[in-house]
Amino acid sequence: MSDGFGDNRPDLSAFWMPFTANRQFKAEPRLLAQAKGMYYRTFEGQEVLDGTSGLWCVNAGHGRQEIADAVHRQLLTLDYAPTFQMGHPIAFEFAQALTTIAPPGMDRVFFTGSGSESVDTALKIALAYHRARGEGHRVRFIGREKGYHGVGFGGISVGGLVNNRRTFVTLPGADHLPHTFDLKRNAFSKGLPEHGAELADELERLVALHGAETIAAVIVEPVAGSAGVLPPPKGYLERLRSLCDKHGLLLIFDEVITGFGRLGAPFAAQYFGVTPDLMTTAKGLTNGSLPMGAVFAKREIHDALMQGPETLIELFHGYTYSGHPTACAAGLATLEIYAREGLFAHAAAMAPIWEAAIHGLADLPNVIDIRNIGLMGAIELSPRDGAPGARGYETLVKALNAGLLVRATGDVIALSPPLIVQPAEIEKLFSLLRGVLASLD
Ligand code: PLP
Repeated sequence: MSDGFGDNRPDLSAFWMPFTANRQFKAEPRLLAQAKGMYYRTFEGQEVLDGTSGLWCVNAGHGRQEIADAVHRQLLTLDYAPTFQMGHPIAFEFAQALTTIAPPGMDRVFFTGSGSESVDTALKIALAYHRARGEGHRVRFIGREKGYHGVGFGGISVGGLVNNRRTFVTLPGADHLPHTFDLKRNAFSKGLPEHGAELADELERLVALHGAETIAAVIVEPVAGSAGVLPPPKGYLERLRSLCDKHGLLLIFDEVITGFGRLGAPFAAQYFGVTPDLMTTAKGLTNGSLPMGAVFAKREIHDALMQGPETLIELFHGYTYSGHPTACAAGLATLEIYAREGLFAHAAAMAPIWEAAIHGLADLPNVIDIRNIGLMGAIELSPRDGAPGARGYETLVKALNAGLLVRATGDVIALSPPLIVQPAEIEKLFSLLRGVLASLD
């Protein structure tokens, strides 16, 4: 396989890269040129095992012919058409198909262009829902420390990662639950940590502080992803659900990472048996092949807005690319692959092998925690004195040189392979990573 560039490495100066140390990167670039199945190929032609499904999104593996064919056909049939006061069949078809894997009752779907847009959309739907019911005073949101909900102003306001917030203004009226990361009590938990369900009760404190009648919704990732894979303590989500019910707050699950099989069920909602009121998704929705997001809403939330004269636009919200035909075609083809290949069940079957393999690294130096759930996992390294993040970054670079893509956030190495992963690839992934981690000082 040729990398397609020959000797002509592109000029790297114009692209202002997201969430990247641009100058460091451009001095020593890491360019991926091709991908198929479980593997990338670098610009230099080296094969790289994809330990991260790209960015938690290529759940069915790379280079899927069915998706490429569907996109190609759709581009030539109807490349683009608006969904404001107009429609096209495939957007309706895709929404309908999505309801077949959605949690019970969550059968209304609003399309967006990304996870961040899904989050802002869900927050706005929550406000509109309360207003439609005569509770327009419910305007606050409760997020969680260490939460990541994308980079829109809504998302960073309910999000809880300081670097994403400190430079920017955030919305007034957002408060935060404490995070659930507890190294002292929960280090090296397999699956759900034992301790911390009581942290959900902090919602009572926030309700007492602000007044339940001022709060619209609580938003959490069922498993915090970007903060470094933090599965919820046993019983935590159930408690959050019952407190939201008690106080009339909507519960939003941000399933941008956990959606589409990552835990071995279609969504974390089904995995945990806890149904939210709104669910934000993106990423695996199209296997990462085209940008798209979707917000799933309980039917009663949707129906509460379908009031008044029928000539009325019920929700003044939407994107040029809401229900983009080509993205819908990619999404439909993706859903077909998930179903035909039984990938959610396969992920569930691989999860115990994954768990045993990742915890097999516990003996390595500098490893202070290992966490896992479904086909997600993280290895937390102790920070070097005076250089937090250095070990994590070095792991990323060395792993890539060894033929493995991992994600490093600070000193946490996060892993989330495509759901098509087989036991031999799990073994290879952790054997490569063991070599890298063992070589770190
Ligand atoms: N929400 C969660 C839980 C995410 O993990 C992400 C991205 O990683 C987002 C929202 C934002 O998605 P996007 O980058 O598509 O805007």
